[in-house]
Amino acid sequence: MTRGLRASILAWYTEHRRDLPWRRSRDPYAIWVSEVMLQQTRVETVIPYYQRFLRRFPKVGSLARAREEDVRASWSGLGYYRRARHMHAAAQIIVREHAARLPSNRDALLSLPGIGDYTAAAIESIAFGRPAAAVDGNVVRVLARIYGLEGRRDSARLRRAVTERAVTLIAGPRAGDWTQALMELGARICLPRDPLCERCPAARLCVARRSGAPDRFPEPSAVRAPRVLPYARLLRGPASRAARALARRHLSNPSAPEGPCAEFRHRTFSCDSTYEVWRLKLDPERARLHLQRHKAAAGGTGPAFWATPGQLREMPVRAPTLKALSRLAGSRPPSSVV
Ligand code: SF4
Repeated sequence: MTRGLRASILAWYTEHRRDLPWRRSRDPYAIWVSEVMLQQTRVETVIPYYQRFLRRFPKVGSLARAREEDVRASWSGLGYYRRARHMHAAAQIIVREHAARLPSNRDALLSLPGIGDYTAAAIESIAFGRPAAAVDGNVVRVLARIYGLEGRRDSARLRRAVTERAVTLIAGPRAGDWTQALMELGARICLPRDPLCERCPAARLCVARRSGAPDRFPEPSAVRAPRVLPYARLLRGPASRAARALARRHLSNPSAPEGPCAEFRHRTFSCDSTYEVWRLKLDPERARLHLQRHKAAAGGTGPAFWATPGQLREMPVRAPTLKALSRLAGSRPPSSVV
C-alpha cells in the first residue's frame, strides 16, 4: 500500500498544488518563516505577511539585527506575537552560533526558540530534503482516515500510530514534496468535515472512505469549547455607559461616544470575544493637551502619540484593533485614533 499511496498523492500534488510564494524558494530561512507563520494561521492570511516580512528582513542576519518593535510591526495583525519574538531570538542565535545559516540537523533546530517537533521536521524535509516526518493535526486526520486508525484526535496512542505510518511513508525521494503534499491534501481535500473523497488521490486505498463515514475518523478530542467573552461581561454594564466612562477616563473627552457603529467577533483558540466599535469626536486642542499630559505623566519621554489609521496598520497593534479600524473605515472615513 505504501508505494501506491505515495505515488498517487505525489502525482496529485505535482499537478494540483497551489503556487504559494514559499514554494518558489529553497532558502531554508524563507521556509522557516513560512512554517512559523502558518502555525494556526490560514494560508490566505499568511501570504501578504510572508511577502512583506521577507522584503523587510530578507536574510537571517537582517532579522537578527532588527529592532524588536520593527519585527513586531511586521507581524502586527497576524496574532500570536510570541512566534515573532521567538523568531527574532532564534535569528540572533543562528547568527552567533551557526554562521547565519539555519542548521539542518534536528537537535540544533529543536534547540532554537519557537521550533518544536513539527516545525523542525517540516524544515528538515522541505528545506533540506531529509526524510523527517512532520505530524500535525492535519496529518493526523489524513492518515487516521487512510489507515482507518481508531482513537481520539488528541490521544497519544493515535499520534504514535500515525507517526509510525508517517515515518514509513516519507522514506524515499522527494521528502519535501511529500510533506507538502500531505499538508495540501489535508487543507484542500481531506477536510475536517465533508471530505471531498471523490477528488482524492488516496480514495482507492482509504479505509475511512470505504467505511461510508469518513469524517468519523479521527474521533473528536475532549477539548473544552473556547470561553465566550461578550463585551457586557468585560465592561461590566451597558456598552454605551462603559464607552463614555472610558472616554472620560482616558481622553478627557466630554462628547458622547457615537455607536456602536460596528460589532465583530474575534476568536482565538481559547477565547471567543465580541467587540463593539464606538466613535469619538475629539476636539483637536483637547487631544493635544491630553497627549501633553500623558507625556508629562511619563516623565516627558512617554511613547504616546496620535496616529492615523494608515500609520497604525504599520505598527505592532493587535488583530482586534486592526479589525476595529477596518470596520470604522467601512462605516465612515475615520480621522485619527490613538
Ligand atoms: S478518501 Fe476521503 S477520507 Fe480518505 S483521505 Fe481522501 S478525502 Fe480523506
